[in-house]
Order: sequence, then structure tokens, then C-alpha cells
Amino acid sequence: MSLNEIQLAEIEDARSTTRQTRRPTVEAMEEILLQAFPVLDHGFVRLIDYMGDDSAIVQAARVSYGRGTRKVNEDRGLINYLLRHRHTTPFEMCEIKLHVKLPLFVARQWIRHRTANVNEYSARYSILSNEFYVPAPEQLAVQSSTNRQGRGNTLNPQQAEEVRKLLIMDATHAYEQYRYLLNENDEGEPVDPGRDGLARELARMELSLNFYTEWYWKVDLHNLMHFLGLRADSHAQYEIRVYAEVILEIMNRWVPFAHQAFVEHHLEAVTFSGNAKRLVRALAHTAADAVMPELSRKFGESGLTKREWNEVMDTLELPQWKV
Ligand SMILES: Cc1cc2nc3c(=O)[nH]c(=O)nc-3n(C[C@H](O)[C@H](O)[C@H](O)COP(=O)(O)OP(=O)(O)OC[C@H]3O[C@@H](n4cnc5c(N)ncnc54)[C@H](O)[C@@H]3O)c2cc1C
Repeated sequence: MSLNEIQLAEIEDARSTTRQTRRPTVEAMEEILLQAFPVLDHGFVRLIDYMGDDSAIVQAARVSYGRGTRKVNEDRGLINYLLRHRHTTPFEMCEIKLHVKLPLFVARQWIRHRTANVNEYSARYSILSNEFYVPAPEQLAVQSSTNRQGRGNTLNPQQAEEVRKLLIMDATHAYEQYRYLLNENDEGEPVDPGRDGLARELARMELSLNFYTEWYWKVDLHNLMHFLGLRADSHAQYEIRVYAEVILEIMNRWVPFAHQAFVEHHLEAVTFSGNAKRLVRALAHTAADAVMPELSRKFGESGLTKREWNEVMDTLELPQWKV
């Protein structure tokens, strides 16, 4: 992970300072505040700030449900209920701010998520550092024959090494050209005083998509879950998925009840089309007499609440097996 010396000193300094607050805080988040989690070869995700916790979701929900929530009075149960029934606004009460370092081609996918606030490193103002992503050999694969947007079998080690060499050679050359065009050393002095340097906003055209950029990214929990639902999914490109997986872990520290409900009702859940539902229903009816007596007797082992179990039975049109 590449944090420069100035950044590391700033982090150390900021982490040594603590403040008293009346705001709710989450101990597991305080532990990692400002800390960077490495991703890919030079990237990271760093927690800058957060607002709210599981209770903030519940608190907001209770404003709308008021006394009517008596039956779902446990925080965990209420959060589950809200997610399952797509009552999303209470989740917007929580916000998170991250500092992310990521390759440009990953940033291009990430920025499509419009419901966040972004401030990116300016390559018009500053000189980009010589950091570019080179996939590990096991990540280098052929084009998938079944998924036009994905990869298939891994390249053999010899071919993988050839690809890596080419990527390193091209990026190294591109960076040399970039610095040549800028004609500027790290102190901002001309390298060759007899030649004009090209403006930073133009010289950056030389760089390839695997160079790293950085940004601050702030998003509310509802939109974060939308992002994670798409980018932590197994169909997402590996290079963005690894960032989503780190953020998912941070979410688990931050709002563990919401995280659990999100995994259960979104990440691991599937949606059936009308035809698929009728097919599953027909299969269930065929097998019901054989399997349902045993299954309904042990319905607690399914992990479903009584309410969820009964909803499944209604969907399958098997009301006689409600509990
Ligand atoms: C596997 C995968 C493959 C993809 N392939 C491509 C591709 O080939 N080409 C390509 O261009 N993109 C591609 N994308 C990007 C994709 O189309 C979305 O742009 C991206 O995932 C962001 O999703 P979003 O718009 O729902 O998110 P956000 O921008 O965060 O929006 C969240 C939600 O807010 C609402 N919203 C936001 N803005 C508007 C608006 N202006 N109008 C109405 N509703 C709005 C929508 O309900 C939206 O779902 C791909 C994404 C994935 C995950």
C-alpha cells in the first residue's frame, strides 16, 4: 500500500488526538478511524468519518412508526423488517466518508454511482505519482466465452508473466514520457531550463488507465448498500469487488445489524420472475407431502422468523404449512 510520508505523518498525528463528544460513536469504528486498509497492489480504503449507527436507523424509523412499532421493538428485528420491506429512508440517516486510492479504470466504474459526493485528486494541479496497477498472475485470464463482460480461465504462468512485463514496460515508459513533457522535478524546478514544460492538465494524457488516482467519497448507508449490492456481487469485476469487500467489512463494524440484514436480504437473496415463481411453486407442490411435515416441524432451523416462514408458504401457495 502506498501512502506517502506526509500522509503517514498526518495519519499518525490525527490518530493520536482524541476528542470528547456527545454524538453517538461506534467503538469498532473509532478503532480504525483514519487507518488505511490495503487493496490491490498500491490502493487502499481509509475511513475518514462516519455519522450514526444502528440506533440512528431505528430512531428514524420510530419517528414514522411511533407506537405502532411495539411488535417489532427489537432493533435487530426492526432493521431486518425495514430492509425486507424496502423502507429505505431510515438508512439514509447514516453517512460514511472514505479516502480511496484506486486505478483509473476502477474509478471509472465507481464514479457511475451518482448518489455519493466525490472529491478527486487533481492532476491539473498536482503531479501524479509513478504508481500503476499490475494484476497478480492469478488475475490474468482470457475473455470469458459465456459472459461477454467477464474473464474465463487463468493464463498459463508463462503467458501471465509476459502480460505483466508488457504492462510494467508500457506504464514505466508512459510515466517517463509524462515527466518528460512536464519537464519538472519534484520541487517544481525545470529539469531542462531550455525547454518549456507542458501543462499538467495536458501531460496526464500520456498515462494509462492502470495509474492510480485518489478521492474522498461520502455516501449514505442506503446508497452504500446499493453500491455494495452491485460491486460486492460475484459478477462485478474483481478489481472493484475487492474494494467493495473491504467496505463491506467496515460496514460490519459500523452497523452490524444493518450489515447482517443486508447480507441476508440483498447479497444472498435472489428475486424470482413471475414464471420462475410459478415453476418453484409447482416443484414445491409436487414435493410438499414428502418434505413439509418434517420441515415445518423443525421450521426454527431454517433461520426464518415465523413471519418470514409464513410469507414463504403464502408465496408457494401452501397455507396449510404455515406455523
Ligand atoms: C456488472 C455491471 C456491468 C455494467 N456494465 C456497464 C456498461 O457496459 N456500460 C455502462 O455505461 N454502465 C455499466 N454499468 C454501470 C451501471 O449501468 C450503473 O450506471 C451503475 O451500476 C450505477 O448504478 P445506479 O445508477 O443504480 O447507481 P447510482 O447512480 O448511485 O444511483 C442509485 C439509484 O438512484 C436512482 N437514480 C440516480 N440517478 C438517477 C437519475 N438521473 N434518474 C433516475 N434515477 C436515478 C436510481 O434508482 C439508481 O438506481 C455496469 C454496472 C455493473 C454492476
